[in-house]
Amino acid sequence: MVPVVHRPSQIEIVEVGPRDGLQNEALIVSTADKLKLIHAAIDAGIRRIEVTSFVNPRKVPQMADAEAVSAGLPERDGVTYIGLVMNERGADRLLATRIHELGAVCVTTDTFAMRNQGQTSEESLAVAKRIVGMAHAAGRRGQITIAASFGCPFEGEVAQDRVVAMARSAAEARPVEIALADTIGVAVPADVERLVARVAEAIAPIPVRVHFHNTRNTGIANVWAAVCAGARTVDAALGGLGGCPFAPGAAGNVPTEDVIYMLQRSGVATGVDLDRLIQGAGWLSSVMEKPLPGMLGRAGTFPKASVQ
Ligand code: ZN
Repeated sequence: MVPVVHRPSQIEIVEVGPRDGLQNEALIVSTADKLKLIHAAIDAGIRRIEVTSFVNPRKVPQMADAEAVSAGLPERDGVTYIGLVMNERGADRLLATRIHELGAVCVTTDTFAMRNQGQTSEESLAVAKRIVGMAHAAGRRGQITIAASFGCPFEGEVAQDRVVAMARSAAEARPVEIALADTIGVAVPADVERLVARVAEAIAPIPVRVHFHNTRNTGIANVWAAVCAGARTVDAALGGLGGCPFAPGAAGNVPTEDVIYMLQRSGVATGVDLDRLIQGAGWLSSVMEKPLPGMLGRAGTFPKASVQ
């Protein structure tokens, strides 16, 4: 018997290039180029973008222009901008801008939580819930990401029961969604399938978003496993930029153009124009002064419209 695969007709993409994609890059990108990247994503049809993070600029120099990026964001109907925040001070900074959505981060293990944001795992969860409450009180959206959901660079394996329990607790803050992040790129599709399905059931009707790094070349397979297991939103970065300054060895995010190609050819709509996205990735490669990991820009789409 052919197994029944649950395949949604549509998936939302969050472009995280301007934040997660850039934050680990040594080359400091100008505010103007960050805004061009945001424009390129919007022009390609992406409607939700993680644009910056409100963190200590001494720890993450690439994000020192968070306020300037926020001030330069184009006003577009139907486009939602997300800013990442680790604590109340960051939340205050975000709420002083026009950014629509606060992205809070909690971490599964104490060691990683301490290094990433100077909190224990439980503290990071409590703070995430509190700052989502601050966003709601100010009339903004709030979202919670569980970092290191599939493994920790310092403590190793992370029990799925721990992640499910954190998601259940995070859901009490009524975030627009809960994201499971494979911050260091250790997940494999079988783990993804199980964890996404368990968390989706635990937090329903709140949807699950996923965030994968391609550190071990399993990123795109993980996206497919997550989508078939019920994830509704997928993070990706144009060109496959990305890493994490506090996660040793973490490689780029899954490339937006490669993810879109896979989903669209599989009959999952994303509303994104692939040719424009490839153009954007080419431009970004010139800004970064290096080839980017995304493969579609090199191989091209299929079938090619121009080929007779
Ligand atoms: Zn990441």
